Amino acid sequence: MCLKRFDVTCQIISNKEICTNYFELKIKAGSIAKYCLPGQFFMIGVPGVFLRRPISVYDSKKSVLSFLYKVVGKGTVILSKMCSGQLQILGPLGKGYDLEICKDLNYVVVAGGTGIASLHFLATKLGKNKPYKKKGTLYYGARSKKDLLCLDKFKEIGWKVLVSTEDGSKGYEGYITDILEKKVKDSDVLFACGPMPMLKKVVQIAKEKKVKGFASLEEKMACGVGNCQGCAVNINGAIKMTCKDGPVFKIEEVNL
Ligand SMILES: Cc1cc2nc3c(=O)[nH]c(=O)nc-3n(C[C@H](O)[C@H](O)[C@H](O)COP(=O)(O)OP(=O)(O)OC[C@H]3O[C@@H](n4cnc5c(N)ncnc54)[C@H](O)[C@@H]3O)c2cc1C
Repeated sequence: MCLKRFDVTCQIISNKEICTNYFELKIKAGSIAKYCLPGQFFMIGVPGVFLRRPISVYDSKKSVLSFLYKVVGKGTVILSKMCSGQLQILGPLGKGYDLEICKDLNYVVVAGGTGIASLHFLATKLGKNKPYKKKGTLYYGARSKKDLLCLDKFKEIGWKVLVSTEDGSKGYEGYITDILEKKVKDSDVLFACGPMPMLKKVVQIAKEKKVKGFASLEEKMACGVGNCQGCAVNINGAIKMTCKDGPVFKIEEVNL
């Protein structure tokens, strides 16, 4: 697990709207890019906003770090308007997904909304590393067709993709956990990231079916390094900080 952490100013390479309200930000991160693990995140400083915003690593190639984010409030609105210039970033932070447990097993990833970002990075790493099976299955749920991101990227690397939308505009009409519940097997390893109601259901399914895996939690956080204690969660009966002890936790230990 990477223990190196940087607090640096980086140049924006591009910051493009890939579909309504969703942006892909690329920054020149030099050698930092090679220290990032799937599931880790950066606290991104946005000019004029007091607290930095946590955003997961979406991709990391050579010296370029990519983030995929949704515009939701003050910080991301300002960020979305920055096409050039510099950003202060702190990271990589937190503990990422443990790839070791995937060896020789089938793996599935369950994403809701922008939870797809960290799982995309995970998928690219699994595909490139020898001890793991090359392809997995993506279960991806969103409100509507327009909220389903980077499906083409998963298809390009040969993954099986199952989607659901709440309004029925693409794939199964309803929640992705309805499909997961029917298809997931106890021999699978599961990685999940998404909104809390989805994660709750994923954790319940995994526990019932005795599937092991990891859930990445997106609690609101102010500092990102365990000082403010704003992102406390109950893990196996103990209080843990999402930023420092997570955001990725073993599914069997999560009580949501
Ligand atoms: C580990 C992690 C990874 C994430 N990865 C992604 C990602 O890849 N893509 C993506 O789109 N989103 C991601 N998010 C969610 C993203 O951080 C929020 O959508 C973003 O912070 C919203 O910022 P805003 O200013 O636009 O929204 P606003 O709602 O205006 O502000 C949210 C901010 O308010 C502050 N805040 C509010 N309440 C509290 C509180 N109780 N305690 C502490 N601080 C508080 C925090 O600074 C918080 O970041 C992630 C969140 C976490 C925790």
